[in-house]
Amino acid sequence: MSAQPCVISVAITGSLPTKEQNPAVPITVSEQIESTHEAFEAGAALVHIHVRDDQGRPSSDPERFQRVQEGVRKHCPGMIIQFSTGGRGRQLQERGAMLWLRPDMASLATGSVNFPSSVYENPPDFVEALAREIAAHGAKPEVEIFDVAMLYNAVELVKAGLLARPPHVQFVLGLKNALPARRELLEFMIKELTALLPGATWTAAGMGRHQLTVNHWALELGGHCRTGLEDNIRFDQSRLAASNAELVRRVAHVAAEHGRKVATPAQARALLSLPPSN
Ligand code: ZN
Repeated sequence: MSAQPCVISVAITGSLPTKEQNPAVPITVSEQIESTHEAFEAGAALVHIHVRDDQGRPSSDPERFQRVQEGVRKHCPGMIIQFSTGGRGRQLQERGAMLWLRPDMASLATGSVNFPSSVYENPPDFVEALAREIAAHGAKPEVEIFDVAMLYNAVELVKAGLLARPPHVQFVLGLKNALPARRELLEFMIKELTALLPGATWTAAGMGRHQLTVNHWALELGGHCRTGLEDNIRFDQSRLAASNAELVRRVAHVAAEHGRKVATPAQARALLSLPPSN
């Protein structure tokens, strides 16, 4: 089994949960910076960021992204900063509005899918335009695989030169109405990824009660892990984590059980073919 270090991504906030659903979720800029810093100290090398407005609603305000980015850069040297271009509560044209801030990475869903109570709409022309925009701002996409077709769409984007090699993808499992959390399915997608996009790297994320299970699978199968409050709450309110750092520590612990070291930010940058931080 691959002994490469595991990159731990922490999705600190998301579009949900609300403060009522979990008081631990960081909402304000200072809460987000502090929570990221704790997660960084616990071993997270990558932070996936959504911002909220003053009422706690999902926001596209570039100024909020800017302030969080500045704080993370200051307090978490070398940490990989990834902005979400995700859809919930945001208009299509707003979703890349903060890319001029030149984050290290930006998420890119390569197709449409049903979410638990909505449609996550990513029409083909929008996907292509967003891929171009991410590249134009010097960021590396994290391809979000919410459904199997999105994997093959990513292959087409690479062929068309809209996604650079080697791409990085994230398999999202256990989201209602999208991919189930089945190990056979993850193994199939990894096999396809390896065959069609040699050299590609991957992370797996499990939603709700599947979060820890999917962390185990990713560690066993040689991939990277995502954790964080974004995925922890909404689908399983009976087991609330108290902080992002707690979830990162849990992954670090499981990684050790599987003989995997936790990647430092510098190692994570090398593994994901990102430039070193300056
Ligand atoms: Zn997200």
